[in-house]
Amino acid sequence: MKRKSTQCYLGLGSNIGDLKQNIDVAIKKISLLEDTQLIKVASFYLTKAWGNTRQQDFINTVISIKTKLEPNALLLVLQNIENEMGRVREEKWGPRTIDIDILLYEDIVVKQPQLTIPHPYLTERSFVLVPLFELDKTLVIPNQGQLVHFVEGKSHDNDIITII
Ligand code: ATP
Ligand code: CA
Ligand code: CA
Repeated sequence: MKRKSTQCYLGLGSNIGDLKQNIDVAIKKISLLEDTQLIKVASFYLTKAWGNTRQQDFINTVISIKTKLEPNALLLVLQNIENEMGRVREEKWGPRTIDIDILLYEDIVVKQPQLTIPHPYLTERSFVLVPLFELDKTLVIPNQGQLVHFVEGKSHDNDIITII
């Protein structure tokens, strides 16, 4: 544990059960984590499944938090929330009640077997780029450049169906 609070962005997704409720419950649980404050919540986006496309549409959003938890401690508590909410991993990029990814942890870069920050696919996924951009249009992705360039680069795909 450290004393300083760090601004951090998390990506949430659900495509099993009551999608909106799953996202709401996960956000509530995150807001109740020790040494963690919820700052902002982006709109909820109905999106087409990415990577493994033969599955239900998702709801995705991005939140910003301030936390005193170190990256690996944060990953652990987020995985606990996924498990509490019945997350089962059967196939890569398969259906899930809830997925919580660490997208950005201030301007810190982490490259460990169990944790990569910025999230490895952040800049390839409209369902992450668009809500992230909604929260902060000036964000810079460490070592990769301004978020706005990636958002503009993805502006012609139609992975995002609508804001709900
Ligand atoms: P993707 O990572 O492509 O979004 P996914 O979310 O479906 O896929 P999971 O099964 O949720 O993948 O996670 C697989 C592993 O990814 C986790 O066990 C975790 O250790 C690792 N991981 C690496 N970097 C991150 C990160 N930034 N946020 C969350 N998990 C991460
Ligand atoms: Ca994910
Ligand atoms: Ca994940």
